[in-house]
Amino acid sequence: MADDVERPGADAWVPEGAPVDELRRAAPDCRGCELWHDATQVVFSRGREGAPLMLVGEQPGDREDLEGEPFVGPAGRLLADAVDAAGIARDRVYVTNAVKHFRFRLRGKRRIHEKPSVAHIVPCRPWLEAEFEAVHPSIVVALGATAVRSVLGRTVRIGEVRGRVLPPDAAAGASALPAPVLVTTHPSALLRIEDPADRTAAFQALVDDLRAAADAVE
Ligand code: SF4
Repeated sequence: MADDVERPGADAWVPEGAPVDELRRAAPDCRGCELWHDATQVVFSRGREGAPLMLVGEQPGDREDLEGEPFVGPAGRLLADAVDAAGIARDRVYVTNAVKHFRFRLRGKRRIHEKPSVAHIVPCRPWLEAEFEAVHPSIVVALGATAVRSVLGRTVRIGEVRGRVLPPDAAAGASALPAPVLVTTHPSALLRIEDPADRTAAFQALVDDLRAAADAVE
């Protein structure tokens, strides 16, 4: 489907004022955009209500799509390592994605990751808003450009705001936020760095950002 085709958006499928468990049960029925059609299943979130840190990624990857769990692939393992290295207990973290279905294109039998477009990010945002309401985090960490576009409701150069704690009113228009936001890179970007020293430095920068987010809510 072309990116300029209007999608219905997830509103009709998001139960109002629902706890996370109910959101998880409702999400498989969502037809807010076309991504549900080719994906194996919806991939919602992991974590508990009241977790002070909400980490928002891009979308599920191939492995997540097959397992139905967020952040279980290589990028997810790297993120877990970074959370540990930042000294953050995992039960203080709620992880989710801006887009809940896997977008890909086929090359032969291989499924190649395709970045979600605004035409997927915007229809899927009602789920994230419902998670904001249910989890009520003390800070939201946006991992990478797609998460930033969803969380802030606008495009921002990551390098310009990275590592800074932005106030809730940093979001555009009516995209209300429950908490301050810290922008950092997506862990998958680290996987593309070939030089080991550069990758180590990038990992440390991610750890520093996560620690800054945790410190901001101490
Ligand atoms: S990606 Fe989001 S809006 Fe699109 S069908 Fe999946 S849950 Fe619904």
